Amino acid sequence: MEKTLLVYLLLASSALLAQTQSSSLKVNQQRIDGRLLELAKFGAQPGGASRVGYSKADQQGRTYFIGLMRKAGLDVSIDFAGNIIGRRKGKNPALKPIGFGSHIDTVPNGGNYDGTVGSVSGLELVDVLNENNIVTEHPLELLIFSNEEGGTIGSGAMIGKITPAALKAVTQSGLTMADGIRAIGGNPDSLSKMVRKKGDLAAFVELHIEQGGILEKENLQIGVVEGIVGIEDWEVTILGTPNHAGTTPMNNRHDAMLAAAKLTIAINEVITSHEGRQVGTVGKIAVEPGAYNVIPGKVMLGMEIRDLSYDKIWSLFREVENRAKEIARVSGTTITFRQPLTPVTPALTAKPIQDKIILAAKSLGFSYRTMQSGAGHDSQEVSHIAPVGMIFIPSVGGISHSPKEFSKGVDIANGATVLLQTVLALDRE
Ligand SMILES: [Zn+2]
Repeated sequence: MEKTLLVYLLLASSALLAQTQSSSLKVNQQRIDGRLLELAKFGAQPGGASRVGYSKADQQGRTYFIGLMRKAGLDVSIDFAGNIIGRRKGKNPALKPIGFGSHIDTVPNGGNYDGTVGSVSGLELVDVLNENNIVTEHPLELLIFSNEEGGTIGSGAMIGKITPAALKAVTQSGLTMADGIRAIGGNPDSLSKMVRKKGDLAAFVELHIEQGGILEKENLQIGVVEGIVGIEDWEVTILGTPNHAGTTPMNNRHDAMLAAAKLTIAINEVITSHEGRQVGTVGKIAVEPGAYNVIPGKVMLGMEIRDLSYDKIWSLFREVENRAKEIARVSGTTITFRQPLTPVTPALTAKPIQDKIILAAKSLGFSYRTMQSGAGHDSQEVSHIAPVGMIFIPSVGGISHSPKEFSKGVDIANGATVLLQTVLALDRE
């Protein structure tokens, strides 16, 4: 009896010791900085990099990164979509792996932080565990998704979203998607075999630069992402009557351009008249016939609405529609809406992972806030098969997808430490 109690106490205290040990783990900022610099050499351009998915530079960057992953003792494989997967064994093989990572491809003429920060920090996490002889309960997977900037292709393939038609499309690299996937060691004919099911991953956590200016403006260190916004696009067609701009009196016109202008203002009023972080934009316009001396007969507008809530997007759209009806009536035009693109559904991050990120930030003494992501990420695809979490760090000047993209080394290291602590907290569950 006494002996059992003693064993129990010993086990409990060693578990506690392990926990305090792991909660004081820190990442090596110098090593992270060094690797970001090394990666920046592939596809280097003044100030930034062009490492477009499937391109030569992308292939070289991947080879470099795979080398680092192997050096860190990861069991590295390439799946059929060309995603790089680095596995680390856990104590309990019956548990599903905890995943983390991001992407290392860039937009043409992009920067050195979008994607690479999460990828290099994921590798750093593994190195820190190695240095401290920590073996987690769960197996771990460092996931470097292929061609994120081409439309989250690698992560999309992982959830079975890539269509045969998409494989024929020519990508920014100049190769078709199918040939691109072959160029990085995948097999486009076998994508269906790599699809993961719900529950195949215990969780996925992605560290990423904010790509906006909120954290910097509010002088905060960590963003806890509540979700990635959904996007719905509409092509708006306004039909009036083209007529002579000199001979048609002002009170006898059906001016499609004037109706389009009123509608553009109405859309802005609808979006801004509600509480919340929804955004709505008219970003495109085409006027016909398009002459100084003709009253416009036809206008096409391109409009989008983004929010974390699908229902909210649609209730805002209904309001826009009502305003359009009124504008059409008064101006003697017709206004119709069509959705030309596949909508992006909002992807929410898991509340329990948000809580762990917050707890990690708090215990490390970092300031933080919850926020949404207005840009798309691999996490939004993975959220279909696993609970996901996302950690943001400040982007200087809120700039991204540009050689001017920059995040400070200390901010990156802070984010990497939060990532490490979040993964360890998930593992303790
Ligand atoms: Zn990214």
